Amino acid sequence: QWIYLDGQYVKKEDAVVSVYDHGFLYGDGVFEGIRMYDGNVFRLEEHVDRLYDSAKAIMLDIEVSKEEMCDIIVDTLKKNQLENAYIRVVISRGVGNLGLDPFSCKRPQLIVIAEQLALFPKELYESGIEIVSVASRRNRADVLSPKVKSLNYLNNILVKIEANLAGVSEALMMNDQGYVAEGSADNIFIVKKGKILTPPGYVGALEGITRNAIIELAEKSGFDIKEDVFTRHDVYTADEVFLTGTAAEVIAVVKVDGRVIGDGKPGSYTNQLLQEFRNTVTQDGRK
Ligand code: PLP
Repeated sequence: QWIYLDGQYVKKEDAVVSVYDHGFLYGDGVFEGIRMYDGNVFRLEEHVDRLYDSAKAIMLDIEVSKEEMCDIIVDTLKKNQLENAYIRVVISRGVGNLGLDPFSCKRPQLIVIAEQLALFPKELYESGIEIVSVASRRNRADVLSPKVKSLNYLNNILVKIEANLAGVSEALMMNDQGYVAEGSADNIFIVKKGKILTPPGYVGALEGITRNAIIELAEKSGFDIKEDVFTRHDVYTADEVFLTGTAAEVIAVVKVDGRVIGDGKPGSYTNQLLQEFRNTVTQDGRK
């Protein structure tokens, strides 16, 4: 496996970074997770746009253009002879001194890792998953915006720990007002009486690229879908609940905090959207 590290390809075993890198010392940097399906990189430009927006928000200058970034990502996939893969792009502030000051870092470091990934076993897409809600809160949109995919994922890691302690693989985060925000690395949708809802960005959800694709697919199918705030009560009493994300794709949730959702099986809206998502991922992308 070849890793793109600062302008060259190095073997996985040799892909190491300095302990003085501020990505390591302070979580100072940004990242993206992207997916390739049957040789198609799904919505590459949207991911690259989000990466550059995240970097801009933390005043991190990416030294390559967006076009060059797309080429580096596609080349890394080719170099590893992958047709189906998960791609992680990391840009850290780079090597500096021990102080917090990011301006001590001479130049950012760009890393691209591509490998095969299946977040959930196949059966779970048929049966659905169980999740819990957790005490950790999504950070407020007026502080470090949740739109920034920064290397500081501690909040999300606490969510994951709480999920694991509860014996489930994913969990639900509220914002500081108690509105449902998202999962540790995925967005949430609920369906009630034929209406599909997903929390708006200002609640504290990342505007997921899978989420946006699902909104488009739902609109195309003529479904009644909108962004709106909702609480845990709405999740418990929904007919269907599902999560979306680059790694998770579209996965049904059949139990939340012990409450069975609908009839305990993935519902018809979820199944249809999962199917449409699967049909689109191999076409809606870059070769
Ligand atoms: N929310 C968070 C916090 C994430 O890290 C991710 C993963 O990228 C998502 C949601 C889902 O976004 P996307 O569909 O762009 O992967």
